[in-house]
Amino acid sequence: MNVLPRKMDFLQMEEKWQRQWETEGTHRYDWDDDSRPVYSIDTPPPYPSGDFHMGNFLNWTYFDMRARYKRMRGYNVLFPQGWDCHGLPTEVAVEKAKGVRKSDVPPDVFRRMCEEWIEQYIGVMKTAVIRMGCSVDWTTEYRTMEPEYMRKVQLSFLLLYDKDMIYKGEHPINWCPRCETAIADAEVEHETKRGKIYTVPFFTEDGEVLIATTRPVYLPACVALGVHPGDERYRRLIGGKAKVPVFGQEVPIIANDEVDPEFGTGAMMICTYGDKADVVAVARFNLPVVRLIDGKGTLLEVAGKYAGMPIQEGQEALVKDMQEAGLIKEEQDLDQEVGLCWRCDTPIEVVTARQWFMRTISLTDRVVETAKRITWYPDWMRQRLIDWATGLDWDWVLSRQRVFATPVPAWYCTSCGKIRLAKPEELPVDPKVTSIDDVCECGGTEFTPDSDVMDTWFDSSLTCAIHAGWPDRPNWRKQFPASVHPSGQDIIRTWAYYLMVRHLALFDETAYDSVLINGMVFGSDGRMMSKSLGNYVATPEVFSKYGADAPRQWAAAGGSTGTDIPFRWEDVEYGWRFMRKLWNACRFTSMRLQDYDPTNRAEPELLDRWIVSKLQRTVKRATEAMEDCDFMNTSEATRNFIWHVFCDHYLEAAKTRLYGDGDGKKAAQQTLHYTVERMIKLMAPITPHITEEIWRTMYDPDNSINLSAWPEYDETMIDEEAEKAGDIVIAAISDIRREKNRRGVSLNASMKSVQLYASGDDAKALKLGSGDIKDTLKIESLDIVAGGGGDAKLEDYPEIGFTVTL
Ligand SMILES: [Zn+2]
Ligand SMILES: [Zn+2]
Repeated sequence: MNVLPRKMDFLQMEEKWQRQWETEGTHRYDWDDDSRPVYSIDTPPPYPSGDFHMGNFLNWTYFDMRARYKRMRGYNVLFPQGWDCHGLPTEVAVEKAKGVRKSDVPPDVFRRMCEEWIEQYIGVMKTAVIRMGCSVDWTTEYRTMEPEYMRKVQLSFLLLYDKDMIYKGEHPINWCPRCETAIADAEVEHETKRGKIYTVPFFTEDGEVLIATTRPVYLPACVALGVHPGDERYRRLIGGKAKVPVFGQEVPIIANDEVDPEFGTGAMMICTYGDKADVVAVARFNLPVVRLIDGKGTLLEVAGKYAGMPIQEGQEALVKDMQEAGLIKEEQDLDQEVGLCWRCDTPIEVVTARQWFMRTISLTDRVVETAKRITWYPDWMRQRLIDWATGLDWDWVLSRQRVFATPVPAWYCTSCGKIRLAKPEELPVDPKVTSIDDVCECGGTEFTPDSDVMDTWFDSSLTCAIHAGWPDRPNWRKQFPASVHPSGQDIIRTWAYYLMVRHLALFDETAYDSVLINGMVFGSDGRMMSKSLGNYVATPEVFSKYGADAPRQWAAAGGSTGTDIPFRWEDVEYGWRFMRKLWNACRFTSMRLQDYDPTNRAEPELLDRWIVSKLQRTVKRATEAMEDCDFMNTSEATRNFIWHVFCDHYLEAAKTRLYGDGDGKKAAQQTLHYTVERMIKLMAPITPHITEEIWRTMYDPDNSINLSAWPEYDETMIDEEAEKAGDIVIAAISDIRREKNRRGVSLNASMKSVQLYASGDDAKALKLGSGDIKDTLKIESLDIVAGGGGDAKLEDYPEIGFTVTL
């Protein structure tokens, strides 16, 4: 056994192992191994934002602890890493940074700008994932913007189309006028804003009917007036007509039991589309649809003199005119919920458009049933997915009118309009670039490309199958469904949901067998960490001070799985101190084991049996917690054992024996060898670098601790008697030491004599441990007397007393 050096530069040591793991291929998944069970991690490919923040650090520590633990349990672990490149975030960032709009440059030029942009950000994130010691198999690395990845996404599109799970249709959708694209429900952020509600008159044969609206600008697109059938005030008007103020069109007055007679005036205008309630009413009463705005959110001709204005400006101008004309009867402040684009915060509009959709609503029951069947860490997160799935009322709008995304693989016959989808062998394809050479049923030979691209979630919701090797590896189902989908609580409604519907639709099978949820990271002031609040901590700052193993302890122990946790420098510093403690204890052990001969066994003494029994309990607790992804309790149990049981008590008590000779020394040596090996293994998933350094120096120079076996709980080593007696001995040692300290004597100074008084059982225990007590405290003469007495009392064992003569 080699001796650990006294001085160790932890930061350099960590980077050394990161390089060596990669050269040794320690974390490679073996695609051909059929002897071990598979554990596949559906690592969510992050959007490379150019920053790896403490929230990312928390997530990846979770993924990595799971991967490392499962390897030690004998699994063949697939821990892939990809980068989710496509989509609005990148386009918006490029538009801002370069001062262009997507329409200012040709699509391929814009696409290249996006690719270059994202590549530099991938570099930043990848460096951080490596620097934190993540045991990713880098041979699996992929980018969703690569042709190979796009081929798979487009293939799934074709397969879903064949299954009638994808269709093109004219439906109302959420629209961001700034990004000029359709967006899905999951991309709409809801916020409460202070707005105004206006009361305006509609005119009927029977006089005025007042309605309350927050958006008079929608008056030109008003197609009906709804009232509750039971509302006495309006019953006589049902079936008649009302004239819309300013714009003058006549609309039917209809009975609609969805109208709340208590809200506003009890009469509601139905527009196309002010909100989702309008969408429901238009479909139900088969009302016409009036297009009010174009893709940029500019008012169209139907808005009369307001045409050409952006919708907000049009509203202001119209309200002003109506006020002057006396058409605003009342104006009140109102807190209202508005939907905002998740990327740019622009208020979304509901418009009708011809788009591609995936049938998701018809899968809701399957999603709920599957969510109930699989495992959730923690269990209460299950309901989030169920609530989201059951709350949806529209299919998933897949198409986007953007550039940097996977193209929809379709053309249309120029003569008859029939869809010509790409064939699997034609993939990947961008129909805007590649023209198609084919003959339509109608004889037409000219085809127009579909210019839409797909929602970026359509790329990233296929990872469970793609990580497994679909569609190219014949045995891809060996890795599918994913064993675990790890995710943030904020993206259950997107990532966990889309993965689930997508894989259910494609393969009629769950995407993943379990979900591991992490919370958000807050600043030390208890607020969400953000650069603008000044409570933001960048990962390079943490790495350069404390490396990876110390902050990984913060991530593991900072809070229970799934809850939000604050970032605390104190926790990282505690982790750092723990590492020094562990290092020093192991260094001492490595020195004292220089002449250790494992074949020459000795009978363990009381404190040897005591520490081994406590170790077994720690193994049991840490293992149970690890199985439950309860990283906080794993690390608490293990660190407490190492620091406050092993270092503080056992090592101190065993020192004299270890410096001595004979059976007492042998017994202590074999106990140390056994205990240190197991306790560093328990820490290995949490602090992989320092435990690797200790392991390779002391136990196995050639093989990683991550490929060694996790300690098994050994019930035969549980020794309740030794634990009870050992506790009393340890308490006696601590209290006598405290007494020495109180009298101002050096802890190393020897004592002439000590008399310990204790009742029957305790005296027996103390006699068993008398050698340890004498050795540890350097007592020349120790008397253990059954019966009370003495001039000092032990706090925890009031029946034991002692007299110390220095
Ligand atoms: Zn937007
Ligand atoms: Zn045709």
